[in-house]
Amino acid sequence: MEHTRAHLNKILPAVGDSFVTNRRNPILTIAQDTTPGNHDTLMAACDSHRYVKQFHIAEYHENCTDSLKNALGELGEQGREFSPAPFNIFMYIPVRDGLGLS
Ligand SMILES: [Zn+2]
Repeated sequence: MEHTRAHLNKILPAVGDSFVTNRRNPILTIAQDTTPGNHDTLMAACDSHRYVKQFHIAEYHENCTDSLKNALGELGEQGREFSPAPFNIFMYIPVRDGLGLS
């Protein structure tokens, strides 16, 4: 996502915008969007630590980081401890200029 934000020079992609790889090759273009169009590019993928420390949920909670790791493991890729920044479709995170998340 950091490469796409730099490529677009904005944090909220819109119709016609293309996402790019770390080598700036286009991999996805938004052709149509029938939603209000607020799709987050800033929030990290959730993980077990977030549920414990931020949401105070003591028992294990399913999360995106483990889901990706498990899915890749089923495909034969093991040992992945890094989860790339996600494109959070339909996730509205209001941002104010220079003031962080509101
Ligand atoms: Zn998640």
